[in-house]
Amino acid sequence: MDLNAILNEINHEIRPLLGQGKVADYIPALATVDPGQFGMVVTTNDGQIYAVGDAEQKFSIQSISKVFSFTLALKADPDALCRRVWREPSGNPFNSLIQLEYEAGIPRNPFINAGAIVVTDSLISHFGGQDQALSALITFIKETADTPDIEMDHKVAISEMHHGYKNISSANLMKSFGNIHNEVDTVVRTYFHHCSVTMTARELARSLLYLSHHGTDPLTGTQHITPAQTKQINSLMLTCGHYNASGDFAYRVGLPGKSGVGGGIIAVVPGKMTLAVFSPALNEYGNSFIGTQALDLFTTKTGFSIF
Ligand code: GLN
Repeated sequence: MDLNAILNEINHEIRPLLGQGKVADYIPALATVDPGQFGMVVTTNDGQIYAVGDAEQKFSIQSISKVFSFTLALKADPDALCRRVWREPSGNPFNSLIQLEYEAGIPRNPFINAGAIVVTDSLISHFGGQDQALSALITFIKETADTPDIEMDHKVAISEMHHGYKNISSANLMKSFGNIHNEVDTVVRTYFHHCSVTMTARELARSLLYLSHHGTDPLTGTQHITPAQTKQINSLMLTCGHYNASGDFAYRVGLPGKSGVGGGIIAVVPGKMTLAVFSPALNEYGNSFIGTQALDLFTTKTGFSIF
């Protein structure tokens, strides 16, 4: 199958849609991103790279970072984590507080904000502090992306610190139930910083190859997690990776995927390849409008869905 031709076709078909959707302006530092960008990359398990559009543009990976933080937390202490975060779709927006109180401070899954904040808290405890947790995360991303060129954008993290009222509320609420072990301020600061990592679509697609190859990087041979843990992460991405649009994403794309409000979406074709798309204008659920459409076109044209 000629994947270059397919990506070019998709690029052509989505162009008329550019202009629809809206960039995430609830984080002021992201409000000025050019909404007219689109990039898409496929990386196969044997190392072929197919790219179209703005594939080399760095962008804020935001909630896609939850895949990396959850991977590290699963490696560190899977049993404790299972008691502190459930594995069910929430059916609610990514920053919703509504279930947290009547479910006693246990978030529905690690990919909504509250769940990722608990994951971040567990990493701070495991690695012995905020700086150590962030440094472990960045080291992991650099290793999987196979590049030293990975950084956090402090301007974006600080911007979120000043406007992340709901995240700070949910951390406080969970702390009141005993499900946050470190200081709330430290935990949300660390969470905002890991969300602020910037990467290109090319780097993202490369970095997720361990999820399409049973936990082992197919190009370096490094085992990051077990095949069972890989199954768990992919399953959670399929059922919970797009918040209250997870069902719609599964219906349209048919792949495990994870979005971020920076406009990125990653997806995994187990055993074959990974995909990353970038287009900053979002739909009403906070997922890239064109990115979702591009992945829908990809699996429809190629048949590379898991179903
Ligand atoms: N940092 C963002 C937040 O906490 C991440 C949300 C997202 O990408 N969906 O609101």
